[in-house]
Amino acid sequence: MKQDIYTKIKEGSLKYEDYIFEVLNNIENRNKEINAFISINQNIKNEIKNIDENIRNNKERKLEGMTFAVKDNILVTGLSATAGSKMLKDYKASYEATVIKKIKEAGGVVVGKTNMDEFAMGSSNETSYFGVVKNPHNLSKVPGGSSGGSVAAVASGMVDVALGSDTAGSIRQPASFCGVVGFKPTYGAVSRFGLIAMSSSLDVIGPIAKNVSDCEMIFDIIAGKDDYDATSVEVVSENKEWTLDDVKNLTIGVPKEYFVTGIDQEVKDNINKFISKLKELGIKIKEISLPHTEYAIACYYIIMPAEVSSNLARYDNVRYGSKIDDLNIQNLKDLYFKTRGDGFGREVKRRILLGTYVLSKGFYDQYYTKAQKVRRLIKQDFDKAFKEVDLILTPTCPDVAFNFGAKKQDPISMYLSDIFTVPMNLAGIPAISLPLAKNKDGLPIGLQLTMPEKFDKKLLKISKIIELLINYN
Ligand code: GLN
Repeated sequence: MKQDIYTKIKEGSLKYEDYIFEVLNNIENRNKEINAFISINQNIKNEIKNIDENIRNNKERKLEGMTFAVKDNILVTGLSATAGSKMLKDYKASYEATVIKKIKEAGGVVVGKTNMDEFAMGSSNETSYFGVVKNPHNLSKVPGGSSGGSVAAVASGMVDVALGSDTAGSIRQPASFCGVVGFKPTYGAVSRFGLIAMSSSLDVIGPIAKNVSDCEMIFDIIAGKDDYDATSVEVVSENKEWTLDDVKNLTIGVPKEYFVTGIDQEVKDNINKFISKLKELGIKIKEISLPHTEYAIACYYIIMPAEVSSNLARYDNVRYGSKIDDLNIQNLKDLYFKTRGDGFGREVKRRILLGTYVLSKGFYDQYYTKAQKVRRLIKQDFDKAFKEVDLILTPTCPDVAFNFGAKKQDPISMYLSDIFTVPMNLAGIPAISLPLAKNKDGLPIGLQLTMPEKFDKKLLKISKIIELLINYN
């Protein structure tokens, strides 16, 4: 919540309820052009009853009154959870994701559920059943994906902050395209309970905000081990606040593989300019090598579809799925065939087919087992690099926001959009995207920082200092 709003509520000259009314009004207007929201929380009035009182009586909780947009693959009791798919268009969540429970307990207010690529598969938000999301910086450009709705909601000022999910870059890539901060935590640092699964060994929920402090504040609330998620872990604590002098003692690694041909010239120039600035400040910059980077996309497009084909098997129209009455269903096989054929979009079908193929008898070792080995090599690249450097700096994406339709017919070029973000998911390490600059057309360029597994807190503290060195406006 903005400071002036907060002060007014504290003084009693503004009621939180009236403020929320304005927030919803603004969303209704702006959403017509941006299409960031799939649904709005109709129960919000009942949920915000104590907020005024808490603020006025100095009893505010950590996130008191902060407005949240939540990606529509995270369950919020009673609200839509479509995952951007026709398959779940009428589904309402019957329970609360752990992250939502924690956010509500800390006083956060879920305003609505946001648009996304179908089942989080995409880099442009063009695969959503609910239509494309537009980039608030330029309405003819994509916002990135798959958390495009959450990111656009923050970038356009419709909400304070948002939650997204990141399997290969889905928080960081749109954050980079829309000029906001997006944080992908260590795998398992945030509970996945109540997240509609895409690729379970890669998925992680994370915050999106206008600045690193807000991301840190949310991460502190949502992180932690959860009895409902066996893969959840505690991260290393870091209580001291960092200063520029502390940062000057770090060695930052810049991997040469991230500056290959194909990267947009303005992205490259701006990153290099910032690296020079860091050097001038006395920060040690070291060129490093992450030699298996070139295999990351191929590796991801074996492991992820394998997990997708298994996770999405549950949408069989018996347990989950949209009800279709007019398909003249003859038997069980017919039911699967017709309902899955109708409920899933092209990209989702493509990945289920790919996944079924790589897991099939005779191909399993050749593809799936091999990809797991490559994944290990990618992780080892980072392990080795972190023996030499404290932190790794890269561009978040090879390019800036592109036009609608530009990559839709060419899946491979769309997949390459994640080339700099997917390695961190495969390695399970935390990474953050910060807005660095704008190109000559006014489109944002993102900078990515990454650290070893479980050093999320340290990464956020350091990012707060790096953020101060950036002149983004
Ligand atoms: N672009 C990636 C994909 O399509 C994004 C996945 C994600 O992070 N959810 O798989």
